[in-house]
Parts: sequence; structure tokens; C-alpha cells
Amino acid sequence: MSETAARRDAVTRARAEIDLAALRANVRALRERAPGAALMAVVKADAYGHGAIPCARAAVEAGATWLGTATPQEALALRADPELPDDVRIMCWLWTPGGPWREAVEAGLDVSVSGMWALEELVAAARDAALPARVQLKADTGLGRNGCQPGEDWAELVREALRAEREGLLRVTGLWSHFACADEPGHPSIAAQLTRFREMTAYAEQQGVRPEVRHIANSPATLTLPETHFDLVRPGIAMYGVSPSPEIGTPADFGLRPVMTLSASLALVKRVPGGHGVSYGHHYTTPGDTTLGLVPLGYADGIPRHASSAGPVLAGGKWRTVAGRIAMDQFVVDLGGERPEPGSEAVLFGPGDRGEPTAEDWARAAGTIAYEIVTRIGPRVPRVYVNE
Ligand SMILES: *Cc1c(COP(=O)(O)O)cnc(C)c1O
Repeated sequence: MSETAARRDAVTRARAEIDLAALRANVRALRERAPGAALMAVVKADAYGHGAIPCARAAVEAGATWLGTATPQEALALRADPELPDDVRIMCWLWTPGGPWREAVEAGLDVSVSGMWALEELVAAARDAALPARVQLKADTGLGRNGCQPGEDWAELVREALRAEREGLLRVTGLWSHFACADEPGHPSIAAQLTRFREMTAYAEQQGVRPEVRHIANSPATLTLPETHFDLVRPGIAMYGVSPSPEIGTPADFGLRPVMTLSASLALVKRVPGGHGVSYGHHYTTPGDTTLGLVPLGYADGIPRHASSAGPVLAGGKWRTVAGRIAMDQFVVDLGGERPEPGSEAVLFGPGDRGEPTAEDWARAAGTIAYEIVTRIGPRVPRVYVNE
């Protein structure tokens, strides 16, 4: 099969349509919420499953001046894209010993450092490359994950970074941190982290750090906590039009529109008698004569098996519920006697305005968060870009 035929075949089965106009509008809406701050579009994990390169390009068109990734490999792939402007800053924050520090320095990435081992590897790479590194010092202000602990650890990291800066080996471009509970309005850790962040950045600045940017706001903080915006905000999920948490509101409450629509073509529609077991384990039995529709997507495509007997699908014009187990490549819906044509569309989730479920509905059905639903859609599902 030729490459285009293979792709046509794949798109015929299922597709994740990515609406880049929605993404651009979401970026603009987020910029309006944080008018005094620059915007870093977080495009880690293949832009939360939406496709890193097309989404990064669209975010930059809409005014993002920074791109953020977890791994250095993700950041280097963005830097290699000839269509992204050279002056777009690219930052990555999840390093392990032996990482591609030299490549990062040569690519002009902003790299995050949370401890001395990382600073030492970075400084060695900058020496080898004979180029100053751009480094952002990450403070753990209370998340209890990555980041440098306050107190002696922070003092040492700041002191050694400044020493290397004086030697011309690096430039400290940023001071930053990350929230634990920004999606729970009023959670006492938010104010505590903010106080700690102010203290830790003030300490570094008293010692002589002159950061271009100080930042701590993820999507929920960008949307609901203006006092956290500082010089730059780092939204991820909101840019893809998904609310960080149903508790803080729907996407529409914030003027956001879901970017991904996941759909498949019914692979089979057939009549079955009552009492017929459906899919592995026979966790569903037809209550009477009915029709079954076969949806050619499964857990290998990122459809959570935990949503067996629970996930919602718009098929034949109505909401159906997954009948029984979700298998690796397929699952079944009970069409209640109706007979949509084989090949007709089954929509798992989308913006919701055609009556289809949303990623949030799937998150509820699977006992997870919508972040996980969109991010796990696998590489076997072609992304189809619209409104480029
Ligand atoms: C993923 C991530 C973000 C974006 O988080 P959202 O909740 O998706 O907005 C921001 N900063 C860091 C450090 C992250 O890892």
C-alpha cells in the first residue's frame, strides 16, 4: 500500500480532528486573561496528544512567545522545525543525568535546573560548547515534586549559578515554580506557595540574579488567579480547550473551545437476539432483540479500558454507552434496534456543540482527568488538521 493509501485507510477507520483555529482563539483568550504577562504554550507530550509541531506553530501565530516541554528531546524537535521563528524561546524542565545538555546549549534552549548535579552538567556542557547556557532555576515552593528546596539548597544553587554567570558560562534567564493545587480554588497551599515563591525569588534577586522572567502559573492559575501571573504564564490544557477541572468551570465559562474531536467509522452494524453476551467477559448482555455497532477504536488507541460499560459515544444521532469491555482495537455500542450505515460516524468526544460527548465526559466515565483522555490518544489514530 502506498503511503497515501495507508493514510486514507487509517483516516477511514478513525481520526482525531485538530481544530487549529480553536487553538489560536484559545491562546488569544488566555493572553487576554494575563495581559501583563508573556505566554508560554506548553506543548509537551506531543501537545497533549494534539501534535507538537502544528500546535506550536499555531500558538506562536496567536502570540505565544515561549514554548514549553518536559523533555529536552521534545524541545530539540521544536528547535529543528524550520517554520518556527528563531526568536521563539523554548524551555524544557525534565532532565536526568547524562541528558543532552550540550545539544540544548547549542540549540539556545532555556533549560531548567532544580539541583546541583544538573547545574554541574550544564556548566560542563557550556564550557565544552564555548557558549553561554540559558538556565532557569526551579524552586520547589511546596509542590513536593521537582524543584530546589528552599533554604540551604536554594542558597547553594543560586550562589553557584551566579558564580558560573560571572564566568560567562551561563545566564540565569528565569526563576520559576509550579503549583500543587491551583485547580482547587481557595486551597491554602496556593497562598503558601505564592509567599514562598516571592521569598525565594527575592532572595535570588538580592544575591544578584536578574531574571528575564519569573513564572508559576499553569492553566488553572492563568484562568483564576491573576496575582500568580508575574512575567509569564504557562498554560497547557486550557490551550487545548479543556478545563483543568470541572470544579472551576467548563471550557465555555472561560471562552475556550475544545480543539480535538475523536471519531471513528462504524465497522459493522448487525442484528442480534436478546440475551446475547457482548465483548470479552460478557459484561453486557443484550436486554432484547437489538442492533450492535462496532467502533474500531480500543485501548491500544488510548481509549481507557476503565471506561468499559461507561464511556459515551454519539452514534446514529444519539448518545450510546459502551456495551461491555473495551478491547485493544474495538468496542461495541448497543444501537437499540436502529441501523445506521456501516461507515457512519461515531463521535467519542469533541467540543460538544453537535451533541457529542466531551473529553470531560470520558474522564468521568473512566475515573480520571480529561488531561489523560486527550494525551493518551495513540499514534495509530491519524491527526487531521483543520483551519490551518
Ligand atoms: C504541564 C505543565 C504545565 C501546564 O499545565 P496545565 O495544567 O496543563 O496548564 C505548566 N508547567 C509545568 C512545569 C508543567 O509540567
